[in-house]
Amino acid sequence: MEAIQKKDIRALTREELRSFFLERGDKAYRGDQVFEWLWKKGAHSFEDMTNLSKSVRSMLMEQYVINHIEVDHMQRSKDGTIKNAVRLHDGLIVESVLIPTSKRTTACVSSQVGCSLDCKFCATARLKRMRNLNPDEIYDQVVAIDRQSRLYHNRPLSNIVFMGMGEPLMNYRNVLKAIDKITGDEGLGMSPKRITVSTSGVPKIIRKMADEEVRFKLAVSLHSAIDEVRTSIMPFNATFTLSDLREALEYWYQKTKSRITYEYVVWEGVNDRQKDVDALVEFCRFAPSKVNLIEYNPIDDGDFRQADDIAIDMYVDALEAAGITVTVRRSRGKDIDAACGQLANKS
Ligand code: SAH
Repeated sequence: MEAIQKKDIRALTREELRSFFLERGDKAYRGDQVFEWLWKKGAHSFEDMTNLSKSVRSMLMEQYVINHIEVDHMQRSKDGTIKNAVRLHDGLIVESVLIPTSKRTTACVSSQVGCSLDCKFCATARLKRMRNLNPDEIYDQVVAIDRQSRLYHNRPLSNIVFMGMGEPLMNYRNVLKAIDKITGDEGLGMSPKRITVSTSGVPKIIRKMADEEVRFKLAVSLHSAIDEVRTSIMPFNATFTLSDLREALEYWYQKTKSRITYEYVVWEGVNDRQKDVDALVEFCRFAPSKVNLIEYNPIDDGDFRQADDIAIDMYVDALEAAGITVTVRRSRGKDIDAACGQLANKS
């Protein structure tokens, strides 16, 4: 007999679950019960669904599976950062990170296995893109980190950043569905203002997000405001050029009135000249923006070296003089390879 490919029941919406039961001549509210088990109570097996009859449970088991992630391996850094290696139902691994500070705990989640893009300084880029994560695989990472936050830091998760593995805008539909669940009453009920989607900059999707009037925040990994330089470190910039990006971001701001954050690393001999600084200041002018100068986390013996403090100060002074908010970020979780750009399934 040919094995039946069972479907993941978590791909069904509440409405679809309700109609499934109705079509079988059962009550629609059974669909609500299953939905609650899957999303409120986090059931991992049909056996757990004790308010359904045995026959309903085995009928479900014959037709469906419940795919869920498994935290395969957890590492805790000296600074409290936790890195999870998360096993997906097909055995692939992604990573997600919990970053505690005095005021918040932030989850840094992955959106793809590997990455579609090819940034020269990023460890994840070396993995290539293997597949997109499903909405529930993204959602589950958040739930797992929320649990760890309560367990190790006695408070719920406060913020989420899509800065783990992958380019979220290359898996936009699923990221959006996951965010709907995270912010919805039937999921975690979190405010979208506490969620930041970080992108290398896919102009078409940024426009789409603006049209859809999404309410989460946008961060752009800029690293250079000069095309030639940016293309040399982020080769896809040859296709998605800075002027296209800028137009899309201008549109984003017009529609959402939401400030844009730029992530920026300063490297020695790459973007540490006065003209690099001037170009960034100029780029920031068209919409209210904020610059996070992030520390470079070396990924190998490689070509990239963090610039010295003199170069960083040059950026800070120029941005402040132009009235642009700037912060200098120290890395967290470096001892366990959990910092930005270090996620590459090494553990
Ligand atoms: N693809 C998305 C999200 C993942 S990268 C994006 O590009 O925004 C998350 C952040 O880490 C980005 O700002 C990225 O540029 C930065 N990053 C990548 N490699 C890094 C490294 N080795 N050191 C410091 N930051 C790095």
